[in-house]
Amino acid sequence: MEYNGNLSDTYDVIIVGAGPGGIYSAYELKKIRPELKVGVFEAGKELKERHCPIDGIKVKSCINCKSCSIMSGFGGAGAFSDGKYNITNDFGGTLYEHIGKSEATELMKYVDQINVENGGANTKLYSTAGTQLKKVCMQNKLKLLDASVRHLGTDINYIVLEKLYTYLTDSAGVDFHFLTTITDIEVTEGGYRVFYEGGSATCSQCIVSVGRSGSKWMEKLCERLKLPAKSNRVDIGVRVELPAVIFSHLTDELYESKIVYRTEKFEDNVRTFCMNPHGIVVNENTNGIITVNGHSYESKEKQTENTNFALLVAKHFSEPFKDSNGYGESIARLSNMLGGGVIVQRFGDLVRGRRSNEKRIAEGMVTPTLNATPGDLSLVLPKRILDGIMEMIYALDKIAPGTANDDTLLYGVEVKFYNMEVVVDEHLETSYPGLYIIGDGSGVTHSLSHASASGVYVARRIAGGCYTG
Ligand SMILES: Cc1cc2nc3c(=O)[nH]c(=O)nc-3n(C[C@H](O)[C@H](O)[C@H](O)COP(=O)(O)OP(=O)(O)OC[C@H]3O[C@@H](n4cnc5c(N)ncnc54)[C@H](O)[C@@H]3O)c2cc1C
Repeated sequence: MEYNGNLSDTYDVIIVGAGPGGIYSAYELKKIRPELKVGVFEAGKELKERHCPIDGIKVKSCINCKSCSIMSGFGGAGAFSDGKYNITNDFGGTLYEHIGKSEATELMKYVDQINVENGGANTKLYSTAGTQLKKVCMQNKLKLLDASVRHLGTDINYIVLEKLYTYLTDSAGVDFHFLTTITDIEVTEGGYRVFYEGGSATCSQCIVSVGRSGSKWMEKLCERLKLPAKSNRVDIGVRVELPAVIFSHLTDELYESKIVYRTEKFEDNVRTFCMNPHGIVVNENTNGIITVNGHSYESKEKQTENTNFALLVAKHFSEPFKDSNGYGESIARLSNMLGGGVIVQRFGDLVRGRRSNEKRIAEGMVTPTLNATPGDLSLVLPKRILDGIMEMIYALDKIAPGTANDDTLLYGVEVKFYNMEVVVDEHLETSYPGLYIIGDGSGVTHSLSHASASGVYVARRIAGGCYTG
């Protein structure tokens, strides 16, 4: 449904973006103050209209749709994600720096409770508390980070979103305007006016939650409204795919383990990220650049015999270089140039300094779950990053023997882009009263649970600031 509004649309609160940040803002606002008129403007489609055309048969790789159904639409970048809601302050964002650790944890638990009530009741909450694996990691120079994780899985995550959408539209009366990209926000006397192609709408308070896909627009908005922001980090690496049995002792107990290794050569931190037991490796399109990601399903029929996870090295840049995302994009473009998309290489081929080819991959023990181009990642990744990844694979081999097998597959590149961090106060409010920037678009969060928690937090503030739950 395309939006054909007019200049008279007036809301108490406008939310830009219907990802987890926007959805939980709307949910909490209407829960506390049902009388508020809330409008959500979303560049992508409504949930049931979101379909990625890649079917592996007719369409094998990304065709750069006008609105990417993977990244945009109701549910945001999280809609087809693995739905891992990590309840932790150790990773996933720095929300706690603004609102304090205990409040951040409470909000993440609250979001978990809503997910459970809306379809996630039979899913499992894993935890690192009391695990022996922590000691085993430490004995092998690896650090296991503390977290509880609710794994909804791609299928249940979708059901939760469906239920939330029905509740927000049918019961709570939130106005959703899909395929309506906000092009600008103007400060007015009583609040804000948001512009879209062919019209505009006004509100007294505005929550901007545009996520990763809105990062370029966010940069322009900050420039225009003179909102200070900084960008100095990008994470670069590969996605590892191996037989699920190799990691089963970790994934059965913890589901997702966030493990950090400090390399001997450069003293860089390499970490595991987004672990998908019995999952699949997928393409991701960010602003036309194809990178790799992964997810897994809760239902057994859709599971594979492989587990995948990313190994990432964080690159922090100092002055005068400012374009950390541009650096990551250039590396991803290089892999797209050589492989026409994502490149896949056997670990054994990488160690021997030769490219992988179709034949060697087909003869290997790991059947790839993504149709990627066999190639040579050493022609793409900077030496320092590649050396760090190889060191970590050998370190992981000590706690999960078989990780460093020749047939282990490495897909490249995986890039974790970070939005510029916009300067917001302890209420996630900008220097403009009533203009809030939340979720991944703020640079403060980089995960489902932190983005959702930031939405609840700001909603409570707007709804009166005295709500105690
Ligand atoms: C494949 C994949 C798997 C993932 N798996 C996990 C996981 O298991 N666990 C986890 O914690 N995180 C995961 N993530 C990350 C997670 O999805 C994000 O951290 C989270 O969605 C951020 O929420 P958000 O609301 O801040 O932004 P988003 O989810 O990105 O939503 C922002 C929304 O704003 C819209 N928008 C952008 N610009 C505009 C504009 N100008 N006007 C109107 N609308 C606009 C976009 O279309 C989008 O729908 C995954 C991401 C991907 C891509």
